[in-house]
Amino acid sequence: MKIFETHAHYDDEAFREDREALFDEMFANDIDTIINVGASFAGCEQSVALADSHEKIYAAVGIHPEDVEELTEARMAWLKKTASENQKVLAIGEIGLDYHYPEPAKEIQQQWFRRQLNLAADIKKPVIIHSREACQDTLACMRAEHAEQIGGVIHCYSYSKEAAQEFLKMGFYFGFGGVVTFKNAKKAVEAVEAIPIEKILLETDCPYMAPEPNRGKRNYSGYLPYVAERIAQIKQMTAQEVIDITNANARKLFGFSAVQD
Ligand SMILES: [Zn+2]
Repeated sequence: MKIFETHAHYDDEAFREDREALFDEMFANDIDTIINVGASFAGCEQSVALADSHEKIYAAVGIHPEDVEELTEARMAWLKKTASENQKVLAIGEIGLDYHYPEPAKEIQQQWFRRQLNLAADIKKPVIIHSREACQDTLACMRAEHAEQIGGVIHCYSYSKEAAQEFLKMGFYFGFGGVVTFKNAKKAVEAVEAIPIEKILLETDCPYMAPEPNRGKRNYSGYLPYVAERIAQIKQMTAQEVIDITNANARKLFGFSAVQD
């Protein structure tokens, strides 16, 4: 099996010049499937357009906590309609909480995070959660909206192995990318050790977070073999096993039928 890339932003400006060439190269080599994840509203529209025009690209639509001030009732209705009617939209995301910057206010972020969790519950699709410096409030919003019945992934998981147990109790998956390859990645490595491989997904978050030895460069899914290698080292298995199991995990979470395998 090849790699299932669960979190990419190919709508980003960084790919304007060569995105089609990269797709051709990746799908001819290590990559099986890509989910392009919306963050801004324009990014959601572009994610859907990419999914509609490429067989192996799928989309997630949702508004990132740093962009929630662009949400309106009309846009919530668009998200709901698009995610429920378009078969290539697999999830609601990325949604969540990010307290790294003072704006938007925590209360506003929480309100829209809960609204979008609720939307996902309504249309029975999983969520892709972005959570930074907001672990306890993320758990509180998830519990309040019965996230255990929604399902999803905590992308770019950055919290402790102890906190991981709380997300595991709700049946969530964990996305890992370039960070696990960094030399100072102690916390992420401990989390990978503690989380069962059946709950791990591979992701880039490209164009950001390129793994070693390409740290600092523009990231893309073609670098995911480095991440698989590192997780394989930590889990004492082969990179191919990591690729196969995480691919199966993604198919299970995002509702691919056995026929598509
Ligand atoms: Zn992202």
